[in-house]
Amino acid sequence: MSERTAYPQEVVDGAQKATGEVVLTARELRRTFGSGATEVHALDGVSLEVPAGRLTVVRGPSGSGKTTLLNLLGGLDRPTSGQVVLDDGRVLSELPERDVLRVRRERIGYVFQSFGLVPVLSAAENVEVPLRLKRTSAADRGRRVEEVLELVGLGRHAKQRPYELSGGQQQRVGIARALVSRPDILIADEPTGQLDSETAATIMDLLVDLTHSQGIASIVSTHDPVLMGRADQVIELHDGKRVERSA
Ligand code: ADP
Ligand code: MG
Repeated sequence: MSERTAYPQEVVDGAQKATGEVVLTARELRRTFGSGATEVHALDGVSLEVPAGRLTVVRGPSGSGKTTLLNLLGGLDRPTSGQVVLDDGRVLSELPERDVLRVRRERIGYVFQSFGLVPVLSAAENVEVPLRLKRTSAADRGRRVEEVLELVGLGRHAKQRPYELSGGQQQRVGIARALVSRPDILIADEPTGQLDSETAATIMDLLVDLTHSQGIASIVSTHDPVLMGRADQVIELHDGKRVERSA
């Protein structure tokens, strides 16, 4: 709580949860693709708790199930068995599609490895897209876009198009867009995968800062061991199973 009160109130409006309060719970998640001889157990009984105001890093080699897990936690996919449970007690993984869409729109921000920006739109216009979809008024959109670009350190680059920005700056736009609707859950699948290691470290630092200052429950996957030092919690996957963290 104390670290949150240090930030301007308009910035922390979206953070309703106390730090450490569990926002998402995964129970014995299994996800199987295909059937018979080609069956793949992408996730094989994974349980975890995702707390507010903390950075949860999902680590594991390629093919270990990181993307599958993040897609289940973010309501983009449904498990073969097991549950994803929200803090209000609802089982996200069993809600009707329209309710899942609503939870995604209102509570979850997504950051993509490849940034996912629209090339013909400026940084500010890219960040504004989710607010337009929500039919937020122009005045409120302008104010919030400016605020969130400032938050990611891009206040002076609002008018630039993605190709006029570095990779790290593009990912900052991606993060600003993910946060513009004030989600309390942030999901980022290898957000630094396309960045050099120095830039990756600054992006990871930004994610840590935002997670703590905004009280967001963040789930970030990476296979970069250096970045895991920033985590509040590390979930290590091997062959779809959670394993004890190896040093
Ligand atoms: P990671 O993100 O850690 O690289 P993934 O979650 O993408 O791992 O994949 C875990 C396993 O599940 C891999 O063996 C992958 O080939 C398989 N898999 C993932 N998605 C699908 C799919 N849609 N169809 C079939 N197999 C899949
Ligand atoms: Mg992946």
